[in-house]
Amino acid sequence: MSSTWHILGAGSLGSLWACRLARTGKAVRLILRDERRLADYQAAGRLTLVEQAHTSHFAIPAETAGAAGPIHRLLVACKAYDAAPGVAQLLPRLAPGAELVLLQNGLGSQDEVAEVAPHARCIFASSTEGAFREDDWQVRFAGHGFNWLGDPANPALPAWFDDLHDAGIPAQWSLDILTRLWRKLALNCAINPLTVLHGCQNGGLLGHLGEVEALGAELAELLRRCGQPEAALELDEEIQRVILATAANYSSMYQDVRASRRTEIHYLLGHACRTAARHGVAVPGLEQLHRRLVDSLTARGLPSA
Ligand code: NAP
Repeated sequence: MSSTWHILGAGSLGSLWACRLARTGKAVRLILRDERRLADYQAAGRLTLVEQAHTSHFAIPAETAGAAGPIHRLLVACKAYDAAPGVAQLLPRLAPGAELVLLQNGLGSQDEVAEVAPHARCIFASSTEGAFREDDWQVRFAGHGFNWLGDPANPALPAWFDDLHDAGIPAQWSLDILTRLWRKLALNCAINPLTVLHGCQNGGLLGHLGEVEALGAELAELLRRCGQPEAALELDEEIQRVILATAANYSSMYQDVRASRRTEIHYLLGHACRTAARHGVAVPGLEQLHRRLVDSLTARGLPSA
């Protein structure tokens, strides 16, 4: 089996992973959106990684989905709404037993990918690393963090897992990846939409703690009722800890809205509301928050799903 890492999407996280894997001599190939993006990249000739004051360059080969050659291992590094369509384009190239590592935040996109690629192994990731694009093909590694990877359908450690340690990518194989993703989703639902609606940094929510606490209580009840009781443990306390620890930060959703970028609402608050409806759990506060957020996005001309 080929040991090449194909990486779908050379945005912030895709470039960060690509550069670190390439730095330690792993075979990496970028899969870019279309011929125009490929020509842009080829004109630049390389990815640039900026870590504090240190800048390094990596001339990683790139192609589009239409290129030839089987794919055994694919890091899916698109936004949640682009993941399944992006993987669908690659179906003819996925080798039997192909493994897909899904970096998407939130929940729902993993199931969409599994549906379009039912024969591939889908490995879910939850990342607390932070990166952003300073320019096309240039990524800044802005926040050190950690990566948990796991496969809810198969606890076996993938053969390539040590590649991550070799590349200095902090990672652990997790047997409860869904719990981690749900916990992160719940924290996101309690904080990010309110920062958009109140137009504030995370710390600004200290002035709206009643609203935050009510959402935390609904989210904890939803987690307990949808089979994720561990993700509900001391959720309230953690929401407040995160608000305090990140008081000076603007949430990712706030930053997306400010930059007029599409948000991942469908896979965050939207997923929580859909799950509540499926399990018959009443979440009036979350539903009202969802409606307010949809209205706010629509008023700004941004997609609301
Ligand atoms: P991003 O910077 O917007 O990068 C996404 C990339 O996907 C873009 O380069 C885009 O191409 C590419 N893409 C989309 N559709 C494609 C297709 N069909 N074929 C090839 N490439 C395609 O996004 P990101 O910040 O890396 O986020 C990726 C995921 O990681 C999100 O779910 C996010 O929530 C999660 N995450 C991000 C961070 C972070 O710090 N950035 C941290 C934790 C989790 P173009 O360049 O052509 O638009």
